[in-house]
Amino acid sequence: MYPFSFTKASDTREALNAGRRGGRYIAGGTTLVDLMRETVERPDTLVDISDLPLRDISVTERGGLRIGALVRMTDAAAHPKVRTTYPVISQALELSASAQLRNMATIGGNIMQRTRCTYFRDVSADCNKRDPGSGCAAREGFNRTHAILGTSDDCVATHPSDAAVAFAALEARVRLLGPDGSERTVPFADFLLKPGSTPNREQALQRGELITAVEMPALPRPLRSGYLKVRDRQSYEFALTSAAVALHIRGGVIREAKVAAGGVGTVPWKLPAVERRLIGERPSDALWAEAAGEASDGARPLQHNRFKVELLRRTVERQLRIVGDSK
Ligand code: SF4
Repeated sequence: MYPFSFTKASDTREALNAGRRGGRYIAGGTTLVDLMRETVERPDTLVDISDLPLRDISVTERGGLRIGALVRMTDAAAHPKVRTTYPVISQALELSASAQLRNMATIGGNIMQRTRCTYFRDVSADCNKRDPGSGCAAREGFNRTHAILGTSDDCVATHPSDAAVAFAALEARVRLLGPDGSERTVPFADFLLKPGSTPNREQALQRGELITAVEMPALPRPLRSGYLKVRDRQSYEFALTSAAVALHIRGGVIREAKVAAGGVGTVPWKLPAVERRLIGERPSDALWAEAAGEASDGARPLQHNRFKVELLRRTVERQLRIVGDSK
């Protein structure tokens, strides 16, 4: 560890003032404290925002769902409204991390968490994300768990969040509050940034901006949804591949389809080609297989992760069948 200052914000104004001066927000601390211990991150000032009133889960005026940024993962997963209207979110949260971590970590922190690329966490390794311009040790190193979609020459790390895959599928929006008190809403697809030539820049956040909530749009009902995670062991492990699926089926025809994949992209990977293939069709095993065939389009596998191309197709096909055949 190293010296840093710590302040606890008693209200939103105090937090924003500290954020404007360059303070780094912290709540559950389940990622940031680890990274500080390893000196991967070295913020001068931490601003504890745990006491801010951002712990509500509510239905929006338009019939969507708003989850406050400081809602704990455990509480979000267990909330009756989340469980009944968006089971894909509950399932993604419950398959994340460990029970102890879920009891501490917040929804805002979950989407802000940083990659699990081992080279990023090893300060002796070259890593453009941690140290811009130094190189990418993963490209020529052991890259079995790395991304096959959305990569660049500068970075091939995956985004680790499961919940973010559900948010991407549902086309959630992130609500932000600026240091001057202005509010804005960013589509989830624009909030997390692909690495390009600046992998150190991961979110579309301006200096001092605070995440206040993640909002799900209202979707036609009934909506069947669920999350499937494929990993090396059954608990406390990150996804090799995952699939978040939501389907609105009426009169035996798929009217709406929301699909995204995890464990394969530098950001949670929305699958519009799969969605287009499903809409207007009648559910069948042949349809699930055909639609999933589009899932790996554009993949650029690395030396050790070629297996993800086929595994992604199979994961999407299986989850389409599970959700599509459910009642
Ligand atoms: Fe760093 Fe990204 Fe390369 Fe990992 S993949 S070493 S995070 S630049």
